[in-house]
Amino acid sequence: IGDSADYDREVDSVCPFCGVGCQVSLKVKDDRIVYVDGIDGPANEGRLCVKGRFGFDYIHHPHRLTRPMIRREDAPAKGLNVDPANPWTHFREATWDEALEFAAAGLSSLKAERGGKAVAGFGSAKCTNEEAYLFQKLIRQGFGHNNVDHCTRLCHASSVAALMENVGSAAVTATFNQIEKADVAIVIGANPVENHPVAATYFKQFTKRGGKLIVMDPRGVGLRRFSSHMLQFRPGADVALLNSIMHVIAEEGLYDQQYIDGYTENWEAEKAHLAGFRPEDMESLTGIDADTIRDVARTFAGAEKGMIFWGMGISQHIHGTDNSRCLISLALMCGHVGREGTGLHPLRGQNNVQGASDAGLIPMFLPDYQSVTDDGVRSAFSEIWHSGDFSAEKGLTVTEIMDAVHDGQIAGMYVLGENPAMSDPDVDHARDALAKLDHLIVQDIFLTETANYADVILPASAFAEKTGTVTNTNRQVQMGRPAVAPPGEAREDWRITVDLAKRIGLPWDYGHPSEIYEEMARGMRSLDNITWDRLERGAVTYPSLSPDDPGQPIVFGDGFPREGGRAKFTPASVIPPDEVPDTEYPMVLTTGRQLEHWHTGSMTRRSRVLDAVEPEANCSLHPSTLRKLGVAPGDMVRLSTRRGSIEIMAREDRAVSPDMVFLPFAYVEAAANLLTNPAIDPYGKIPEFKFSAVKVEAVGNS
Ligand code: SF4
Repeated sequence: IGDSADYDREVDSVCPFCGVGCQVSLKVKDDRIVYVDGIDGPANEGRLCVKGRFGFDYIHHPHRLTRPMIRREDAPAKGLNVDPANPWTHFREATWDEALEFAAAGLSSLKAERGGKAVAGFGSAKCTNEEAYLFQKLIRQGFGHNNVDHCTRLCHASSVAALMENVGSAAVTATFNQIEKADVAIVIGANPVENHPVAATYFKQFTKRGGKLIVMDPRGVGLRRFSSHMLQFRPGADVALLNSIMHVIAEEGLYDQQYIDGYTENWEAEKAHLAGFRPEDMESLTGIDADTIRDVARTFAGAEKGMIFWGMGISQHIHGTDNSRCLISLALMCGHVGREGTGLHPLRGQNNVQGASDAGLIPMFLPDYQSVTDDGVRSAFSEIWHSGDFSAEKGLTVTEIMDAVHDGQIAGMYVLGENPAMSDPDVDHARDALAKLDHLIVQDIFLTETANYADVILPASAFAEKTGTVTNTNRQVQMGRPAVAPPGEAREDWRITVDLAKRIGLPWDYGHPSEIYEEMARGMRSLDNITWDRLERGAVTYPSLSPDDPGQPIVFGDGFPREGGRAKFTPASVIPPDEVPDTEYPMVLTTGRQLEHWHTGSMTRRSRVLDAVEPEANCSLHPSTLRKLGVAPGDMVRLSTRRGSIEIMAREDRAVSPDMVFLPFAYVEAAANLLTNPAIDPYGKIPEFKFSAVKVEAVGNS
């Protein structure tokens, strides 16, 4: 990490980590980034968190992939067994021509022998919009089906399902900065202080000027000390809690009848459903006393302007869609949508998960959430792509694709920038699937756990090595710019995908990401008025109503993009978690991120400062649990679920309740997803990462 004054050029770009989308200035000396500063982007106004400021040096790490590699014929059996510093026992170097030919030939022969459905693709929320667009186009146009997905399936797929169903749009209705104008805000199932740290600074400032912050989470998250109300409810009791809050609002007539009449449908059914959720009857289920629930209901409904923010504590449940339906209903009944200081905001995780989803990197939607089952939509894209029709059948999702590999339906995969060998639930199931594939192409910047299973590895580029647009949680489209060249022979991801597409026979011809953007925007009304040239000059929030409009921070003030223009109430009933604790597995395991580490750790664990601050795998346990186990902080414990066991260092943490374990998922040596439950939400198909029954034991401590 260099001296702030010691650089010879600077390039403006966007932080590669979370969905806040902070703009950064990359300071470069001798073709190395030596320092990063925050600049005045719409989401960060100069601010950065520890990851944005100090987490950039992974791009110069010696483990970067610099040449294409092909699995050796005499390589050991596929498994998690490749040394990233010495991969030559498993792989040999190849030229780009040879590697691309090998990659394309494997896909083409599977298609010829077994049909296009024998091939599936995982794209990445870490790539640009243009790269996400090309990737889904390659699978759809090249193989004729929709078996293409990415990590949104593991983070906010259930929020998207509920928003599409009830609001008609999957993006936020208001930017998080609108909290500056709100009177009250709910943050539920989210830990912005660690996961969206710069957004959290706005939340803290909101409380400083008197805003009421209602925090609800089974863990006592970092915003607790800024909150007016902290509801540490029982894990999995989200629907009971939210319905009981809405019960009070309905019972006491605190709802906004004028808004309900003017902009919504199905209110009477919702109101009747809520009658069964008296807070007094929900106390034992939620762990929250009725007086507190009544106070929260009156505070939120009584405010003139209220916002709701949520994260994966809401979405990663088998009832994740129901959880989001409740939040949407709560905002609608109070009329807290479509005005300044109001809105629904699922805090998006990855830096470009919003953009990758918008660009169609999901199995049921083409770009702009246009259904693959709609003949008109498919024919519009066939025209844009100058190609024939493709399947009207919704494709398989991330976990369904792994199941289809085990069933023998899928034998080839192209994985760009995803790491399912770490990120999938019950990850041994995913690792076994990867080992079974006849042909696996992995395109990445490091030899990830997934690349261990590859037949061919294509070395790609990090954010600071390429041009392209990304879209943050606020719907703000921003330009990423290259500050340094990719190392060795590594290439920009879009170039690799184009070269591969040509070799499987697609007539693609792109010379620059702006050409891809221009084609993508032709099929996306959300990008109307947002040209590449404008983005070169600065961020634009979609929708933008004219070539001069910087974009709309708040949407749906005059109706919703649903038939009839109304949002919908969808009542939600209480569904217990898939796996409830019992005598064998008596505690609750929940997983998540830490401030210093990002997702599967492939970048942040190779960042010197971040890894120095948080170097070791650890789990959080309440002091009373540690006492009961006879374990001191720093000792090892064994965590076991019905899927597997890991041994890991215990950390004392009063934020978790005595019957709970919090486990970060960035550490391969104690992989959290060896333990997690693969049961999925029926609508969003998202796994229940936030609730598994677990046993905790002391191991070999002196
Ligand atoms: Fe990067 Fe998110 Fe931190 Fe901003 S808040 S610097 S986008 S990790």
